[in-house]
Amino acid sequence: MNENLISIIIPVHNEALNIGALHRELNRCTKRLRYAFEFIFVDDGSTDNSVQEIETLARHDRRIRLVEFARNFGKEAAVSAGLHAARGNAAIMIDADMQHPPSLICKFIQKWQQGADVVVGVREYSKNEGWFKKWSSARFYQIMQKITQTTITPHATDFRLIDRKVMDAFTQLTERNRLTRGLIDWLGFKRDYIHFKAAERLAGERSYTFRKLFGLAVNSFTHYSLVPLKLAGYLGIIILTTATPTGIVMYVERYMLNDPLGWQIRGTAMLAILLVMLVGVVLACLGLISLYIANIQAEVTNRPLYVVRRHVSNNDALHDIAEGAPMVMFNERQRVNI
Ligand code: UDP
Ligand code: MG
Repeated sequence: MNENLISIIIPVHNEALNIGALHRELNRCTKRLRYAFEFIFVDDGSTDNSVQEIETLARHDRRIRLVEFARNFGKEAAVSAGLHAARGNAAIMIDADMQHPPSLICKFIQKWQQGADVVVGVREYSKNEGWFKKWSSARFYQIMQKITQTTITPHATDFRLIDRKVMDAFTQLTERNRLTRGLIDWLGFKRDYIHFKAAERLAGERSYTFRKLFGLAVNSFTHYSLVPLKLAGYLGIIILTTATPTGIVMYVERYMLNDPLGWQIRGTAMLAILLVMLVGVVLACLGLISLYIANIQAEVTNRPLYVVRRHVSNNDALHDIAEGAPMVMFNERQRVNI
């Protein structure tokens, strides 16, 4: 690892028309800085000339590295691959389509130098953005905030800088179905924000269709929260607690007291309330099962129990150990294995 090296990670999916411009911009913005850079292009199964474009640029620029995927695995996988390959002391993730202005790179680095471990680019919405996109994104963050315990900044993008400490912790996370920025948020660390207006896509088509985004949103809900899983259980309990007393009252009124209130309850009504009660029982049982599934999910994702940002100690000997100690402590099972 190089103290003065900063890795720039660029996920690429059919961006042949943008790569040249992005490289020019990156060149311009990084020239004045006193850091060394590596540009890691991760080609996520492009079907156009993206790879050839990158290779052509790499012939003249030794800072360029290329990670080529065998097929399209999605942006989240591409960014993760970039982070795994990064050798720098910090990494900046940036889209290839120039929607994330490269001119902000020096601001990100500035905040990093001031002590932030994660610098998050927060997007300001332009006026001509479709109302539906704005509305759905606002709802997404509202629900996420409600059902998860992680602090999530609305409109935080993937345009971020993360410190080596965070990268190391990130590489320890093992889940496959991932939302990179969600995981980085989960890790915590000291964060700072940079607000920017997203530019229009320079050229080419947007790869994220509404369907893909919807899938990603559902994925985030189910990965960062167990509320959807417990929903059936809650519903069951509500049905059960309302239908059971109603059923009992109906039975007593009709069959034990012989209809003193003149409700004239028929057999079908009794049958209906019985069915509703049974549905309640079934849903409540599903909820119970989902508690076990929740436990299994927590064990399978195997997130670290906690993440350490820094060890401080006055005792020198202890200090040395702490310096070399891994940033992430694993859960009980893994600790036993060591
Ligand atoms: N991207 C990728 N794999 C995909 C889809 C997108 O690597 O399957 C890259 C894409 O090349 C771009 C970034 O992810 O650099 C953002 O994609 P896009 O512009 O389509 O999404 P949006 O700007 O709408 O978030
Ligand atoms: Mg884009």
